[in-house]
Amino acid sequence: MTPNKHHGAPCATCGGTLRYVTGNNCVTCAIARAKLHYRANAEKARSRARALHQSNAEKTRNEREALNAERKAARKAAATRERERLAEVRKAARVEYHSARYLRERERICAMTSAYAKANRHVINASTQRYRAATLKRTPAWADLNAIRDVYLDAATHPASEPMHVDHVIPLQGRNVSGLHVVENLRVIPGSENCAKCNRFDPD
Ligand SMILES: [Zn+2]
Repeated sequence: MTPNKHHGAPCATCGGTLRYVTGNNCVTCAIARAKLHYRANAEKARSRARALHQSNAEKTRNEREALNAERKAARKAAATRERERLAEVRKAARVEYHSARYLRERERICAMTSAYAKANRHVINASTQRYRAATLKRTPAWADLNAIRDVYLDAATHPASEPMHVDHVIPLQGRNVSGLHVVENLRVIPGSENCAKCNRFDPD
């Protein structure tokens, strides 16, 4: 006997004497009523449980789908980031390769050009003056270009201790008179003297 039950007056319905301490109801009849009530409500309870299960399942499925979609989007974003990172890395490598090659080639080409210029100073000087004369339209058609170049070679290979320049006796762009870029108007003079002369011509 549990402390919440006791034996009392026999039940008018079933004749049993076991009653609940609280309310003094017949235990046998109370259980029978509960069973009847349970059966009456069982179907309702089952359909409630089914509905609840279905709703939970749907919720779970929705949550799973949302999570999957989120993960898929995250994977896609990560793949895009990685692709962009690799593109950056490749681009940086390309830039580095080309600038290194540019420096290497430039050094090689500059070295070649400067070696040529050192060995052929007269060609450069002749061509510079020829360009200047052409610009000034002071080279006549009859000018002997080979003879002019020889004058520049003479200046470049002159044994004098100071650099020798080729000078236009009558300047190409004089103040009062303009000379021609022809061998007859050329002479080899010390560089210092040429720089001091500065396009002045004394026509005496
Ligand atoms: Zn009873």
